[in-house]
Amino acid sequence: MTAIDQRVFVADPDADAYVRTGDAAPMGMVVYFPGGCPPVAPPGWPEDVDYDGAHLFTVCPACADSWGLDHLMSDPVRVPAGTPPTLQVSWTAQRARVHART
Ligand SMILES: [Zn+2]
Repeated sequence: MTAIDQRVFVADPDADAYVRTGDAAPMGMVVYFPGGCPPVAPPGWPEDVDYDGAHLFTVCPACADSWGLDHLMSDPVRVPAGTPPTLQVSWTAQRARVHART
């Protein structure tokens, strides 16, 4: 069985990414699969969270290098049962500060 009990944080190191409007969050938490991102949602994956395919919004040893090309990536951490697979954050206050300065 493929456990979904680890997460990594990924962040776009480009400061401009944090001031662009839009849906793309430049930092977020995603599932880390030490045995490889599975091709389909593994058992236990929440039904209300889309699983779009291996390596797209999950990280494993095979895809960590390609994630690292344009993201900073944390070490994996083990999380308690019930932790959401992904957590995306917005940057409204950061955008306001940058726009106030310019
Ligand atoms: Zn992967």
